[in-house]
Amino acid sequence: MDLGLKGRTALVLAASRGLGKAAALCLSQEGAMVAVASRSEEAASAAARSMEQISGNRTLAVKADVTRPEDIRQAVARTVAEFGRLDTLVINAGGPPAGLFTELDDAAWQQAFELNLMSAVRSIREALPHLKKSDAPRVVAITSTSVRQPISGLILSNSVRAGVVGLIKTLSFELAPDGVLLNCVAPGRIDTDRVRELDEGRAQRAGRPASEIRSENAQQIPLGRYGDPAEFGRAVCFLGSPANSYITGTTAYVDGGSTRSVI
Ligand code: NAD
Repeated sequence: MDLGLKGRTALVLAASRGLGKAAALCLSQEGAMVAVASRSEEAASAAARSMEQISGNRTLAVKADVTRPEDIRQAVARTVAEFGRLDTLVINAGGPPAGLFTELDDAAWQQAFELNLMSAVRSIREALPHLKKSDAPRVVAITSTSVRQPISGLILSNSVRAGVVGLIKTLSFELAPDGVLLNCVAPGRIDTDRVRELDEGRAQRAGRPASEIRSENAQQIPLGRYGDPAEFGRAVCFLGSPANSYITGTTAYVDGGSTRSVI
């Protein structure tokens, strides 16, 4: 299937590693010119260069902290200045810290709100005038399976990411007349550096090998293994492409079947 991405452009936030990078790489391999945004200029440049080497397509490195409105403005403006258009926006950021309700103060809630919800609001707002000029404008937000099945100890993520789903769903009908299709992609346990670090942390605290923790986690997943970042990237890439012409306002779960819910 041709995803129709050749000659199109994408901006991917928090794209220097992990799931954001996998999404950006897939978009680049499918022919899009991709702006790779990261808080670190060096990390953005390294990731953009490596994608360009693999795909042969133009990339742009952009320094952007998604909690800073001015950085988001600049990231969108630089993408359009460099590539002349913006067709696909991929929203991503780090996850908010773990913690129980009684351990978290207003500042922690406010930070999570800015990091995961307001970054989505602001990036869509900035991108929208440019997306509306595209004949296939697409927005994909990276969330978590916690939006369907909240995870113990992750109340900030469980709460603010649900807000992202509400935002994307509402905009899917508000912006449908403009042809803008918006969806979320929810990772289950995808084998990124971050997930490996978390497993190693748990292993150290339990005084057990990380391989044991990983194997126990994998057994909870119907497909019996962690996902590969490229498998996740392909879902984002499809939903963010013109080949997706009739899916909007939904959440795709890339979780090996681990979310136990019928809706
Ligand atoms: P990751 O930590 O490797 O990636 C997050 C990226 O966001 C990093 O590059 C980090 O530098 C960047 N970042 C953090 N704060 C930022 C900011 N203010 N501005 C710009 N960039 C910022 O994690 P990942 O595994 O690639 O996951 C990506 C997202 O998906 C995270 O929000 C994570 O919580 C969520 N998630 C991942 C999984 C998984 O299995 N990997 C599962 C559920 C949810």
